[in-house]
Amino acid sequence: MRLIVESDCRLVVDWLNGAVDPPPYISSKVRSLKGLLSDWGWTVRWIPRVGNTAADQLAKEGIGCKFCRTHLALPDDIVSKSFHSRRGKAYLFNNAVNITIGTLEERMMLSGMHTVADIFCCCCGQIVGWKYEAAHEKSQKYKEGKFVLERGRIVDENDSSSEVYIDTRPSMSDGED
Ligand SMILES: [Zn+2]
Repeated sequence: MRLIVESDCRLVVDWLNGAVDPPPYISSKVRSLKGLLSDWGWTVRWIPRVGNTAADQLAKEGIGCKFCRTHLALPDDIVSKSFHSRRGKAYLFNNAVNITIGTLEERMMLSGMHTVADIFCCCCGQIVGWKYEAAHEKSQKYKEGKFVLERGRIVDENDSSSEVYIDTRPSMSDGED
């Protein structure tokens, strides 16, 4: 196993990599961290702040694998929530991360023939949906390169509220009437 530590603070990275000497008040902490790094073979890298922001957003808002909670997608990337799989409701996403892509196959779907590949969580290997490589019908071309994640195989922290919303709405409008 290899661990890569990324920080957007160039000074801390320089301290840990030995490029710059740390100030005395923190030198003992830096020394013990450097000890850990050499013992375990960690790598410390500087990354631009925008990289950290993306990782942070994914950690806070990400839609995760139901089985191992690895982050698979962002709610902002949802194109449609009205997709269906053999196992129930599914969402269409512009993008998905931390997945492995299976073999391409031709599959007949509700909206016609598509070239698709099943997608799997890269961490636990569970199937989580599929990717559209190609759509044979013109009206379905918008799906190409996009990903479907099955509702029953993902955990969406933001979605529990919308499910409550759907459940409570009818009784609310009943009351108003
Ligand atoms: Zn998983």
